Amino acid sequence: VKNTTVPNLDDSMNNTEEDEVDVVDLASSSLLNKLIRQSLVESSHRVEVLQKDPSSPLYSVKTFEELRLKEELLKGIYAMGFNRPSKIQEMALPMMLAHPPQNLIAQSQSGTGKTAAFVLAMLSRVDASEPFPQCLCLAPTYELALQTGRVVEQMGKFCVDVQVMYAIRGNPIPRSVDITQQIIIGTPGTVLDWYFKRKLIDLSKIRVFVLDEADVMIATQGFSDQSIRIQRALSSECQMLLFSATFEDSVWQFAGRIIPDPNVIKLRKEELTLNNIRQYYVLCESRKDKYQALCNIYGGITIGQAIIFCQTRRNAKWLTVEMMQDGHQVSLLSGELTVDQRASIIQRFRDGKEKVLITTNVCARGIDVKQVTIVVNFDLPVNQLEEPEYETYLHRIGRTGRFGKKGLAFNMIEVEKLPLLMKIQDHFNSSIKQLNPEDMDEIE
Ligand code: ADP
Repeated sequence: VKNTTVPNLDDSMNNTEEDEVDVVDLASSSLLNKLIRQSLVESSHRVEVLQKDPSSPLYSVKTFEELRLKEELLKGIYAMGFNRPSKIQEMALPMMLAHPPQNLIAQSQSGTGKTAAFVLAMLSRVDASEPFPQCLCLAPTYELALQTGRVVEQMGKFCVDVQVMYAIRGNPIPRSVDITQQIIIGTPGTVLDWYFKRKLIDLSKIRVFVLDEADVMIATQGFSDQSIRIQRALSSECQMLLFSATFEDSVWQFAGRIIPDPNVIKLRKEELTLNNIRQYYVLCESRKDKYQALCNIYGGITIGQAIIFCQTRRNAKWLTVEMMQDGHQVSLLSGELTVDQRASIIQRFRDGKEKVLITTNVCARGIDVKQVTIVVNFDLPVNQLEEPEYETYLHRIGRTGRFGKKGLAFNMIEVEKLPLLMKIQDHFNSSIKQLNPEDMDEIE
């Protein structure tokens, strides 16, 4: 038993927490995504572009050289191991670096190179010889601001005189000292405080304004209004850029209010599909019974790595203990862990240190562990009304059609839950076959 991967199993937590269904918090799942990101996310779609002036020529670049960047910036990009612009960067970078500067709203899923793109724009517009804030980037949380700051530091490694300041709570600065750093990254509340109350930043001198993670931002109470108040204090010459991983109507509306005369770039997300997944269900009487079925599956087929989803923390813990007692190498990922702890558990799993990852809904989305061959729904995803959560089912089991390998999925079902499974089957119009767990030969 490795303590690092099984937190607090002995802690007696109160029951309400134990029964808690882990909800996905946007900011922490975005942070987790960044922490575990290893490379660019590919997309088979074309980038859609909507120019504010449709008659102006549309440039795209295939190399970073074409952008005529400062030597030290180009060096920084290559030192990060980037060889060529990502799909979204091909279109976004020429717009962002154009003269005169153009405003941009860009949407593409996380991992497609948005952060690298706006960091590049900020670094290329900064005048290192001038000691005052020139670029302002708003982020939804302290941790996300720090992540962006790290990218600035990496990419700006050879831009020796450029400095970053974090406008985040708990980062006090003496009243009398001027801010000499050229790039400010912070949360809306603190930036507003530094500007209005403490007069530390002159927003009229900002040349590049970035609003990152707009979808997460608007989900946080007060941040939309604060961001708009900040934007109103910028000069009309300031370049304004907004990024989002998703684009519901609410994000569009906000983007439209905060970014004047924008170009718009969109890259559609790779759709998840159940087409290349063989799905099975096993009828069970009880939790113990489900566990037995799971063991039979384990005994019956060769399994690389598996992810097992439970609906509550309590079930997840129980299953973890059972499997460990039977000698399996298991790790448990659930909502009471910090994002850093989650990231390290996922990393260990990716490195093959454990073969089974047991988790609640915290892990349902966005985690892409390529070597996973089977996914088990120890409990079906249901909402409080006991209706199936179709999206969650798809996110747990589905793979992208183009990049995904074939996969196997097992649903452990109490008899009374069978109608829910049938609804899921109908919803996706894909077949889920019954399996007799004593007879694994049925799995072709
Ligand atoms: P997003 O902001 O859309 O989530 P990032 O800018 O963080 O995406 O990029 C995702 C990952 O891809 C990061 O690890 C980043 O270092 C890397 N990356 C970004 N642009 C490129 C590129 N042009 N070539 C190679 N890797 C890149």
